[in-house]
Amino acid sequence: MDWEKGISVSYSEGLVRRRALLLGAAAVGGGVLAARPAQAQTRPAQAEARPAQGKARSDCSKIRSVGCFEVLALRDAAGPFFLNYDDAFSGASGNDWAAARRIDPAAFGPDRTWHLGFRCYAIRRPGDRYTLVDTGVGPEGSPASAWAPVPGALPQVLAGNGIDLRRVDTVVLTHLHEDHAGWAVTAEGVPMFPHARYVVQQRELDALEAGGSEMLGYVVRPLRAAGQLHPVDGPVVLSGDPAKAGRRTLAGRRGDRIRVVPTPGHTPGHQSVLVEGGRHDQVVITGDVLVHAVQVVDPDVAYRYEADQDEARLTRRSLLDTARRERAVLATAHLNRPFVELD
Ligand SMILES: [Zn+2]
Repeated sequence: MDWEKGISVSYSEGLVRRRALLLGAAAVGGGVLAARPAQAQTRPAQAEARPAQGKARSDCSKIRSVGCFEVLALRDAAGPFFLNYDDAFSGASGNDWAAARRIDPAAFGPDRTWHLGFRCYAIRRPGDRYTLVDTGVGPEGSPASAWAPVPGALPQVLAGNGIDLRRVDTVVLTHLHEDHAGWAVTAEGVPMFPHARYVVQQRELDALEAGGSEMLGYVVRPLRAAGQLHPVDGPVVLSGDPAKAGRRTLAGRRGDRIRVVPTPGHTPGHQSVLVEGGRHDQVVITGDVLVHAVQVVDPDVAYRYEADQDEARLTRRSLLDTARRERAVLATAHLNRPFVELD
């Protein structure tokens, strides 16, 4: 099963069909993870933490190379959540927490505090062009201010990584929660990235319109007014390497490319980004398919604020099964280390 069959097909088919597919996959996969060493392509920014008896391996590096691309982890903010971790994930067992602590020890603050990062990713493409995935909590006064640590540092972090806002030609918003689209527009209500299309699933826009949200006025309408909102419906290839287009890689697969795939559940139109350099050379930028290491340990553990917990469980299990099979590295928004390997 590859990504198409594992995730995006599951999006377009009915829940009952998905459940049948996933139960089959779970029976084979068994959900058992094991530690495995970081690959040589990793550029360590600091020493890696070694899980004592880990089921997955976190990676402190800020950059991963994937085919012709580089994936840069950009931390906009970090801080404690307003709920304790055992209230946010009330279905987790003691063993789940012990395993999660090995994957992401920094998530466990005093008095059961959940400490999390708020991270975006930039994908550097040939020609010094960029695809940005999510835009963080935003400035002082942004909608995330109600609960997240603001202001975020994304503008400074982009500058510090030599990323000119004008060279960002694509911004993928995994979903339209406040902590993922905060810097999409400036305080003046114009797009922060003047030459970018902003890729959002149509289903996310529909759900936002139906439910009403501060994000409609803050992000969606300004982007639409500027002609920069780019709604998509389902999986879409965003970019490929022209030098490799039309021929197979050494690994016998498609050329290097960046895709979005629907990963619904956390929100109705949630999407994730696949950065592919060939078989066993992939990063999946998950968005909020999983928001805590405890959901890597047990994908059935729900997060309190998932729009549809059943759908989120199915998506999470499917994504983790596929990632394990494809040996993809996870790049998450909220774990305290940007890259996590599964086995
Ligand atoms: Zn989030």
